[in-house]
Amino acid sequence: MKAVKHPGICRLCGEFKDLTPEHIPPKNAFNKSTITLLPIEEVCKTLASTDDRMPWDIQGLKGKLQQGGHKKYCLCRTCNNNTGNWYMRSYTDFAKTINFMIQSENLQPSCSYSFTIKDLYPLRIYKAMMTMICDLNNNCFGDSELRDFLMTKDSNKINNSKYSLYMHLVSSQAVRMGGLSAIVNIDNPKNPVLVSEMSAYPIGFALYINKPNGYTPFGLNVDCFANFNYDDKCEVRFNGVPYLDINTQFPIDFRSKDDIVQCVSKNE
Ligand SMILES: [Zn+2]
Repeated sequence: MKAVKHPGICRLCGEFKDLTPEHIPPKNAFNKSTITLLPIEEVCKTLASTDDRMPWDIQGLKGKLQQGGHKKYCLCRTCNNNTGNWYMRSYTDFAKTINFMIQSENLQPSCSYSFTIKDLYPLRIYKAMMTMICDLNNNCFGDSELRDFLMTKDSNKINNSKYSLYMHLVSSQAVRMGGLSAIVNIDNPKNPVLVSEMSAYPIGFALYINKPNGYTPFGLNVDCFANFNYDDKCEVRFNGVPYLDINTQFPIDFRSKDDIVQCVSKNE
């Protein structure tokens, strides 16, 4: 009998199994370098600025170095292999194309860009993003249709009125990954924004659940990617995709360092 090293509930199939390490985002999508993982109490020091520390200043904080990129034990071997083969390869190609554009066109943070990419597999990329969001959350949000959508290679059956997926480009090396959070606007407290985000150079995306009417997220809505078939390969025009900095660990906070400095001095 084989030893079970990382027992847990697979976040995709929901079965209790031995979980296998998974690069999130995929290793070849610029997730190979050594990173510093900060425990939540250390992250809080960057948020509360108790020692005049800016949110991006992690010097001196007690973190754990993880070599070879960001990895987590979220999925069982079968789900890890399937989603890797079915979706993550196309996502990796997409990330490489975006990286090439950022480098060759010298894109500037805080600007938005429109561009066309050929030979893209929209459904595979959409499902790669949704798989990574499910890696960060338990039990596919309790939605068996979402689970089937990701576990069935060809399926494009997803509730687009419930889920809204927005993508942006990421300029910084900082990574932000967050499970579902509720963001409450004090002007409209009864309509919290429910969002789970994954941002890591060069692509970020955020999934909104039951997005309130009238709320406009950052980024380009890519829900239409789910309407394609698995083997549909096409030329896709992206209009007005923001290229954003990650400077805090607050979900969907895309303020530049200058904006944050101004905000801090205003509140002092
Ligand atoms: Zn599984």
